[in-house]
Amino acid sequence: MSATASLPKNLLGWSRAELEQLAVEAGQPRFRGRQTFRGIYARRVRDLGALTDLDKKFRDYLLARYTVALPRSERQFTSRDGSARYLLGLEDGKTIEAVYMPIEDRVTFCISSQVGCAVDCRFCFTALLGVKRNLTAGEMVGQVMALSEAQHVERGAHVNVVFMGMGEPLLNYGPVMEAVRILADPDGLGITLRRITISTSGIVPRIRDLACEAVRPRLAVSLNASTDEQRSALVPINRKYPISELMRACREYPLRPRERLTFEYVLLDGVNDSDQDAQRVAELMQGVRAKINLIPYNSGPGLPFRAPPIERVLSFQQVLADRRVPAFIRISRGQDVMAACGQLSLAGAPSQAAARA
Ligand code: SAH
Ligand code: SF4
Repeated sequence: MSATASLPKNLLGWSRAELEQLAVEAGQPRFRGRQTFRGIYARRVRDLGALTDLDKKFRDYLLARYTVALPRSERQFTSRDGSARYLLGLEDGKTIEAVYMPIEDRVTFCISSQVGCAVDCRFCFTALLGVKRNLTAGEMVGQVMALSEAQHVERGAHVNVVFMGMGEPLLNYGPVMEAVRILADPDGLGITLRRITISTSGIVPRIRDLACEAVRPRLAVSLNASTDEQRSALVPINRKYPISELMRACREYPLRPRERLTFEYVLLDGVNDSDQDAQRVAELMQGVRAKINLIPYNSGPGLPFRAPPIERVLSFQQVLADRRVPAFIRISRGQDVMAACGQLSLAGAPSQAAARA
């Protein structure tokens, strides 16, 4: 079958090595692959015909067979706080979500790693979808590129990328790491590694794999409970990887100078928010250079939990502070458009969001 007869293939997500290989296969010197890589990710060229630094023959070769297509923004919901949730359409018709959050002179992109999620945490709206499929590296990098274009975020801006949208990134390990390498490559999107964070519900063997990566983003672990009984009820994966194993992997995780592991803890009223919970969390943190983000539960239709009153949240934080565990209260942004942590689900459609606003 001739390549020209079939649909053009999307180059988005191809690594530097893959593009170099492509150049070689086209009878070109290897460095043409690197130029293509730079063109797509650093220079943001969408039309392969505009890669004018390539030799014309290679350009024509690419044009005849390939394309560069970003996920399409199908809908956008802008919050009163300036953050914006995007519904992005993929090539197979599936939809994912990504969030843009401007904070002072920085921009944070919260991106998805899967369509839905299989981990099934009881307090998470994404869990209600189940998992449909993994995203490709291109679909993850493409979320950052599509939102950068939509929000006119220039290259060189202070950008954070957090894998905290839909999905469990460590259950889509290979493509997530490929995406991280393209995001962090100076010839790629050029985003500093310490500004890229993967958040996990605690897939212990993959945390250990991550510890061995040469190109390693920051790690956040969603703890969300202080005992195994509580955690297994809230985060079912805890039955497979209990707290002791999770914390052992965390203690053994190599941190760079000044780096801390982040732990996330969703506070659920009357469930995991007592001072005794906070004391147990402080004990778990012994021997780990950690900070904790306390996230009062973001509510929405279909789930039974409530956020604790603010005094409870402050008391939880104080118990941690008394034991020298730095803890920060994270009031999620974009709650009025269901863009906040755990609210990314297609069930959280705008009509419901508007009803809550
Ligand atoms: N699957 C990964 C990353 C996506 S979830 C993980 O679980 O870490 C991102 C964060 O949102 C997690 O820390 C999760 O605990 C939190 N979260 C999920 N549902 C939430 C809700 N309803 N309110 C507040 N935070 C929530
Ligand atoms: Fe999946 Fe994270 Fe939601 Fe749990 S909290 S269901 S791991 S997206």
